[in-house]
Amino acid sequence: MPGKLLKSERGSIIVLTALVMMVVCGLAGLAVDGGLLYITKAKFQNAVDAAALAGSQSLYEDSTLAINTAEAYIEKNGFNKDTINVYVSETNKSLQIEGEVQVNYTFMRIFGFNQGIVKASATAISGPITSIDSGLRPLAIYDTNLEYGKNYVLKEGAQGGATGNYGYIRLGAAGAPQVGENLKYGYDGTIKVGDKIKTQPGNISSIHIREGLEYLINNCTHGCTYNNYQEGCSRIITVPVFEGTPPNGAKYVTVRGFAVFILDPVVFTPPYGHSQISGRFIQYTTSGSIDSGQTDFGLRGVKLTK
Ligand SMILES: [Zn+2]
Repeated sequence: MPGKLLKSERGSIIVLTALVMMVVCGLAGLAVDGGLLYITKAKFQNAVDAAALAGSQSLYEDSTLAINTAEAYIEKNGFNKDTINVYVSETNKSLQIEGEVQVNYTFMRIFGFNQGIVKASATAISGPITSIDSGLRPLAIYDTNLEYGKNYVLKEGAQGGATGNYGYIRLGAAGAPQVGENLKYGYDGTIKVGDKIKTQPGNISSIHIREGLEYLINNCTHGCTYNNYQEGCSRIITVPVFEGTPPNGAKYVTVRGFAVFILDPVVFTPPYGHSQISGRFIQYTTSGSIDSGQTDFGLRGVKLTK
């Protein structure tokens, strides 16, 4: 009978259509919700990495600040701080984050899956900087026991220079113009721990020196102090650390590490001055190669280890 046959065919079509719909919904669900999982995973991992790097920059200060900073960063990147656990190593040298977020499904709910979990983790370490790629100042500190906030002479004034060296070092060419240029912009070259640098003897009196120092000091309009300063301020300078005492005359000295100071205002005696250059020692974090085994002179870098 034609009618019966039609009814049976219609039934088959309905079943087939339902099956096809389920497959289509399933595929759509996989595509939409799977895509959402994938995007969330990428975003969350980036946020966890950024939080680990940001938090580890405060490791030298204290672990609570490092943890708070990491949590603030995860929120800044759009995730609740409850999504992560932050751990700081006993020695304050590394910071680890383990996190997970829930992703609420749209299509997959049809099949009884309401949500998925996305996990991310990151470990960042903080260690002494072993190499400066640019910006090193042509000054020297011969002291390996630096105290935070204390004032240090980086270049002696008119009464100093008993060894012929006042504190200048030679980075690039010899002479006043290069010293002035290196004061102003920092040396445009790489200096590593273990490198030997020649001292630049003499209390150089030159317009280049004065211009370089005035540039550094006058570009600070923030009223920076050693415990409250603007990141990247021109008065924040990096100098190499040497051991022992300044040598007699132009000699090679070995770089033991790097230290950062907030430059004090310089009192110039006319015309250009044989002025003393000094600054307060601060601990600072920058980018660059690090080595946990290297002696810590207060300039640190951070990096992700996984
Ligand atoms: Zn400043």
